[in-house]
Amino acid sequence: YEAKQSSAGTAVYAPESDHHTADRLALLADLRRALEDPAADEIAMYYQPQVDIATGEVVGVEALLRWHHPRRGLVDPEELIRVAEQTAVMALLTRRVVDTVVHQVAAWAAAGRPLRASLNVSVRDLHTGELVDQIARLLAAHDLPPYLIQLEITEGALMADPRRVLATISRLDRTGVAIALDDFGTGYSSMSHLRRLPLTEVKIDRSFVLGMAVDPDDAAIVRSIIELSGALGLRVVAEGVEDERIWRALHAAGCHVAQGWFHARPMPADELMTWLGRYRPVVPARLPAPRPLA
Ligand code: C2E
Ligand code: MG
Ligand code: MG
Ligand code: MG
Repeated sequence: YEAKQSSAGTAVYAPESDHHTADRLALLADLRRALEDPAADEIAMYYQPQVDIATGEVVGVEALLRWHHPRRGLVDPEELIRVAEQTAVMALLTRRVVDTVVHQVAAWAAAGRPLRASLNVSVRDLHTGELVDQIARLLAAHDLPPYLIQLEITEGALMADPRRVLATISRLDRTGVAIALDDFGTGYSSMSHLRRLPLTEVKIDRSFVLGMAVDPDDAAIVRSIIELSGALGLRVVAEGVEDERIWRALHAAGCHVAQGWFHARPMPADELMTWLGRYRPVVPARLPAPRPLA
């Protein structure tokens, strides 16, 4: 896909342009095939550790979709979701994601290594009760405690059809599945969502986290999200923690959980087990004082 320059100078994907339509349809047809053909082994879930900043302990993982297309190679999940989201293929994709992740969590629990997994769902997934039914069914089938599964939703999902989305979220909450607000700070009317929804976690968008070591404005935004969320009793996760300076700055700001390349990249389930076996908790407090931030 090509990116179009907007007047603001940022790259914008333009799904409405005719130029892209044939390509988009081909991609969707390939996705459907990859999902429906039992012999296709193209779609996998990768898992990225989430680390408690104060203790260094791994508290969970985020499950992230990877599609290795036979000709295109690795497809950017963000673009893929943007295209799939407008169609019925999204439901198929989410069904696969949920199924794979809950099975994986059950396997870890059965192996004596219970690990909480957080998975992403899109706007459309929240418009029917199907997702909640599927999750409830799988949890029961595997005899899994619901707190081992968390769903990440974005504010965009809430804006599209607040009534139906709220109904789904309330059902999820009653099931005991935790809900995180993803990409926080990039959407609209953020503050009211924090108060109105049964959330347990807020994820600070990585654009702010990445900027925090170099841009005082980003650092200020991150600090105030942490403060606000903390005051409302929500766990705060920073994503995009790429290096030690950001990790230290988050620690100083009182952020609870870090997720990013500083600790580990998303990886297949078997690699994650190897990584966990080698991992030794590190906490900023036991290290020498940091250099001052921007
Ligand atoms: P997200 O949910 O906000 O996921 C976090 C993204 O940050 C992931 O990108 C992850 O690989 C990336 N990331 C993690 N640590 C770092 C870091 O230190 N630096 C940088 N630069 N990036 C980091 P990814 O895997 O490309 O996924 C992009 C987006 O696609 C996700 O954003 C999510 O919105 C969507 N997505 C991914 N998997 C799924 C899925 O299974 N279902 C749905 N509906 N959406 C998904
Ligand atoms: Mg996410
Ligand atoms: Mg995010
Ligand atoms: Mg995102």
